Amino acid sequence: MREVNFYAYETYCMVRIEERPDGPEVLSACRDIAMRVEQTLNMYDDESELSAMCRNYCPGVPYGVSEMLFYFLNINLNMAELCEGAFDPTVGALVRKWGIGSGKNVIPTEAELAALMKRTGYQHIRLLPEQCTAVIDIGGIIIDPGASGKGFAIDLIVDYLKEKKVRSACLDFGGNLYVMGSNIEENETHGVEKPGNGAWNIGIRHPDDPGKIMAQVYAKDQAVSTSSWYEHHFKRAGHIYSHLIDPSNGKTVESGLSSVTVLCDRAIYADIISTALYVLGEEKGKDVIGKLYKRTGIQTDYLACKYKR
Ligand code: ADP
Ligand code: MG
Ligand code: MG
Repeated sequence: MREVNFYAYETYCMVRIEERPDGPEVLSACRDIAMRVEQTLNMYDDESELSAMCRNYCPGVPYGVSEMLFYFLNINLNMAELCEGAFDPTVGALVRKWGIGSGKNVIPTEAELAALMKRTGYQHIRLLPEQCTAVIDIGGIIIDPGASGKGFAIDLIVDYLKEKKVRSACLDFGGNLYVMGSNIEENETHGVEKPGNGAWNIGIRHPDDPGKIMAQVYAKDQAVSTSSWYEHHFKRAGHIYSHLIDPSNGKTVESGLSSVTVLCDRAIYADIISTALYVLGEEKGKDVIGKLYKRTGIQTDYLACKYKR
């Protein structure tokens, strides 16, 4: 196996594929795709297309976007609607205020939250496919790709690897995984097929003790995405604040779940649904999964760990 490692999306990313003569070129093309996605979507880079759009658009006036940004926004808006706003890419202004991901956390006042809520809501964005434009009907919206960008990049890379007829691959973008084909490495080492015909055996960390494994899942040609509090939370006066925002009130989520892992054959859906389930809890989350299947035929499985208080 050969692999490439790089830093993007504020995390470590890795792509590993089977040994093949053009391995180095294929892996470097994978990194280029990841970087192109980051240059388009990075909310912390003023030069990214997404940042430029949020800075320069005029309310009510169509704003021209690249095909990549259009495709990204389209999936995001459809999923926000399907999740009834529990997943909402327009939480950017709230995320900035809370200082999520910056290390400088602030607890906003009710008045500040009310003002920020007026700049939030996926319903304010409409896409016009004929012109490849987006129309945002209020000012001050900041789109946050944090809950779906890594999944989006993984899907584009997986499409490329399939085009190149790669047989076996494993991608890990900061806890968003994708495993493709058989786990050749395991089979070579052990000389036998593992349970599930070469499926990859993935250990899911225990949210209450991330040094331990909570469960093993087998996956093949599937994305495995986990949302949990343990990596990005912050603490104030003994209280743990999660890095996810409840878009219905602008506050950080007090989830009944401690961690949720979603399996799906497209990584962007695994990424979005794991975030949505964490916000919604298990019962409402199940409805979202059912609706997604009914509407699109996309199947997802999940593994949830309840929060112990
Ligand atoms: P990870 O940090 O592992 O990628 P997620 O995929 O759940 O975890 O994405 C979390 C990020 O998404 C947050 O850091 C924030 O930038 C953004 N975010 C927070 N709350 C929401 C929400 N309700 N809907 C969409 N994006 C959100
Ligand atoms: Mg996510
Ligand atoms: Mg994620």
